Amino acid sequence: MKRKISILAFLSITLVLHSAPQVTRLTPPSALFSGGSPTPIIARFLPDQRFDVQATIQPDAGQAITHVEFLVDGVPVGGTVTLKPATGSAAGRTIATLRAYANGNPGVHTLSVTALQSDNQLATTNGNFQVMPIKPTGLAARQVIILIGDGMGIAHRTAARIMKNPVILGKASVPLAMDTFPFTAVVTTHSLNSIVTDSSPGASCYATGNKANNNQHGVFPDDTGGNNPTENGDNPRIESIGEYLHRTQGRALGIVTTTDLFDSTPGAFGSHTQARAASTGIIDQMFDERHLTGLKVLMGGGRKWFLPAGTPGSGRSAATDYIVPADAAAAWGVPVSSVDPGRDLLSSFVAAGFTYVPDGTALHAIPQDTERLLGLFNFSNMNVAKDKIDGRRSLPGSATVVGAYGFPDQPMLDEMADKALQVLSRDPNGFVLMIEGGSIDKQAHLMDSDRWIIDTIEFDYAIERCQQFALANPDTLVIVTADHECAGAGVIGGSMLTHNQLLARATSGGGTNQLRNGVVGTLDRAGFPAYTIEADGYPFTTDIDNRMLVGYACNADRYEDWITNIFPTQNASHGIVTVPPIGPQAPGDRDQAGNYFVVGQISDTIATHTASDIVLSALGRGAGLFTGVMDNTDVFFEIMRAAFGDNTVKHDVKNNGKYTGRPVPAERNEQDDFQE
Ligand SMILES: [Zn+2]
Repeated sequence: MKRKISILAFLSITLVLHSAPQVTRLTPPSALFSGGSPTPIIARFLPDQRFDVQATIQPDAGQAITHVEFLVDGVPVGGTVTLKPATGSAAGRTIATLRAYANGNPGVHTLSVTALQSDNQLATTNGNFQVMPIKPTGLAARQVIILIGDGMGIAHRTAARIMKNPVILGKASVPLAMDTFPFTAVVTTHSLNSIVTDSSPGASCYATGNKANNNQHGVFPDDTGGNNPTENGDNPRIESIGEYLHRTQGRALGIVTTTDLFDSTPGAFGSHTQARAASTGIIDQMFDERHLTGLKVLMGGGRKWFLPAGTPGSGRSAATDYIVPADAAAAWGVPVSSVDPGRDLLSSFVAAGFTYVPDGTALHAIPQDTERLLGLFNFSNMNVAKDKIDGRRSLPGSATVVGAYGFPDQPMLDEMADKALQVLSRDPNGFVLMIEGGSIDKQAHLMDSDRWIIDTIEFDYAIERCQQFALANPDTLVIVTADHECAGAGVIGGSMLTHNQLLARATSGGGTNQLRNGVVGTLDRAGFPAYTIEADGYPFTTDIDNRMLVGYACNADRYEDWITNIFPTQNASHGIVTVPPIGPQAPGDRDQAGNYFVVGQISDTIATHTASDIVLSALGRGAGLFTGVMDNTDVFFEIMRAAFGDNTVKHDVKNNGKYTGRPVPAERNEQDDFQE
């Protein structure tokens, strides 16, 4: 029996391969195309949200694909279909693309592609996508603020809460600002190609409503897979939140982060690429396509991409640049950019009316009537909150980490949030503002517990500023969430020693016996670690007696001594790098004097992301839409319902396409769902 089926399967595959062309990819991605099942619906769009439609077709040997047509619900789609050769592992196939398609009719639609081969044989296949209804029926959230704590899992929130205010007899004495938000959801974070996402699809789902492959944002995957300037800019695009709200309502966009501005989270809100590392091209695109996004505020690190190659500090290169192909440029109304490492983007921003601020002092001094704002506070990632605060507390002229890095005057994230809100709130059409606490993730990768906890506290102060803005402006929605969890962090307990006792063991070379046994207090021996908070809002020191201890489940090999690291760890991908380097290069390079070696569970030099769900907190207009267990792409659609004032009641929030894992009963349709 088994043998018979195998032979039949073999014969049928052989038959297909040799008798007709074959569609090997149909975009947008669907379970219908890839697995033959109409559910779950993978790709969902807003009414008239633009996206590129694409198919890859394998012709028979010696044949060519001569004509391709796309059909939606059996009706041919108008517009130009461009044919080009696939590359890499798909070489020999033909890619057919129809750019900037849009559909205004809510419901599930069938996407078909028909490809004609030079011998007149046809290939045809189906996929599907869904258009989600938006019914402006009530008061809209004119201002939308999306705060993303990169890598901020539930333990990151817990640890920040414990450090910021003591737990007294089992109760948090003061909650975090984000703890006071009235609505809470749990969000699943998987990407299009893995249960474990990286930050690109993790942010892209909020920016586009759709899943992306790891390392990609604002696009669907394609079959030009090479990492080069031509192929990094040609993927099928999805119109982003800034683009949709600017096109339909004239709203402005703000992007604020503590990381380098090309990094995945800010990148996903301002660019479209299959290569999250294509930094030069990403920053170029943010500028070149600002007429689509309504970009008015851009603040963070990453000055290196704004300076022409060859000037001190510049990081621009041809290898990290990319171009937009002509068919995409024409359909989306954007320039065909060029590979131009010598470009002076800083001057371009200023010429376009942006007020440029290089440091915290200049940021504080911007005029009240500033209309556009560019803040670049470091060549790459900004220094983290601990090091910025230490710099502020030190005497003038004394050695500090931020001084050693060359940027002694970097603003805190809440200060950046204040100025972003000041500038954007002048816009009469409203705005969407993304604010990222970006180094929570980076420091969790490095398993530098104190630094990510303090960055989470910094992030919470920015949240507090947005909360105050929303209280003063009730037509505002604020959501706080993460893109994924990082490092499998957990608050495992508290030290049973004073700091001085711990310090003695950290230099003794006594290993596990000295630094684990007798140190790590679990359960009731964890006690209540109590930090002293200074007037600036941050701990006087993290090296307290009986300190809080953090462990990691998705960890790399490291030495651990629990003592706060004087220098940040430098790592090319996730650290903050100086030239010449100071401080350790990886978690395995630090804290060796205590000789307590913790064996990692992953084969890497740094910890990495987990698939664990993350928490979302919501406040303000439309906040009640955020509840239950949500897929990360659901967050986009609920934000948009709030932004358009869609307060129609759903029969069953779980089944209304909100959680795509559950089937919608066949007798219901979208109209029924929104009639109440
Ligand atoms: Zn990360």
